[in-house]
Amino acid sequence: LMQLSVPLNFIGFIYREIRQGLTDIEQMFDLLDVEAEVTDRPDAQPLAIADGAIRFEDVQFAYDPDRPILKGISFDVPAGKTVAIVGPSGAGKSTISRLLFRFYDVQDGAVTIDGQDVRAVTQESLRAAIGMVPQDTVLFNDTIAYNIRYGRPDATDEEVEKAAEMAQIGPFIEGLPQGFRTMVGERGLKLSGGEKQRVAIARTILKAPPILILDEATSALDTATEQEIQSSLDLVSRGRTTLVIAHRLSTVIGADEIIVLRDGQIAERGRHADLLGIPDGLYAQMWARQSEAIEAEARLRAAREAD
Ligand code: ATP
Repeated sequence: LMQLSVPLNFIGFIYREIRQGLTDIEQMFDLLDVEAEVTDRPDAQPLAIADGAIRFEDVQFAYDPDRPILKGISFDVPAGKTVAIVGPSGAGKSTISRLLFRFYDVQDGAVTIDGQDVRAVTQESLRAAIGMVPQDTVLFNDTIAYNIRYGRPDATDEEVEKAAEMAQIGPFIEGLPQGFRTMVGERGLKLSGGEKQRVAIARTILKAPPILILDEATSALDTATEQEIQSSLDLVSRGRTTLVIAHRLSTVIGADEIIVLRDGQIAERGRHADLLGIPDGLYAQMWARQSEAIEAEARLRAAREAD
């Protein structure tokens, strides 16, 4: 019984921690003790950012030795450019972002930022250089101002308000009874998926990292919200090296390069128009399928409105 009760307690502990609004992906990883396998080298140096160029060099990675996930992936995100990773579910897209954060170490090859191997720099400096807009932001049980300021604790009220405005959530907050002092999270006002994402964007605007990872929500937002969020994301990623983990293709049309992952390998790469031009290509097929789904949804909505 002892043997069983320990893991059960641990799960209960994690569950409570999550419920209490532990929001940060880094804290989540701390909690799950994932970092135990990734530690700073004794001679680790702080990452010296020149302009934030990312390189994956023949990266091989497996969570489990017998099940390779990335089988030799090479690509560059030049400073200030945007590269999008697309591909079927389970292809390894999010794994790429975890390796950039160095939540895990590659088994072969290397991940570098401005020529520095992520294994040679301190984890603290690495994570300070990367901003993440995650799929789903869990909020702290605190004020909305606190939740935004989390991106940079020493930000002034004006900076917090400016960030909210840039993330297009300013008018919404000002309309709340207590404005920026409104309590949010599990025990406060519940925000919608799109609103939470805007809080995450505002946080990232405050953090102003040279490198950005956008892990796009799988959950469908309505088209208008999606377009608004897209325009705030375009604003944050301007001039920053950006890696987009994309589940919807509508958001990658403007990327400088699109990498199509399949079974842990790069199946296709290029810009949107190049990839559409590959006959029977994976991207072209994904695009056709998504376009059909979007049209079907629009027809359904039109029919409902006509009723
Ligand atoms: P999706 O589009 O569904 O989010 P993805 O392309 O982002 O998928 P990943 O999350 O990178 O996929 O996962 C790639 C593979 O690695 C999946 O088969 C998944 O089951 C496996 N995987 C992910 N995380 C772990 C883990 N911590 N331990 C073991 N296997 C994992």
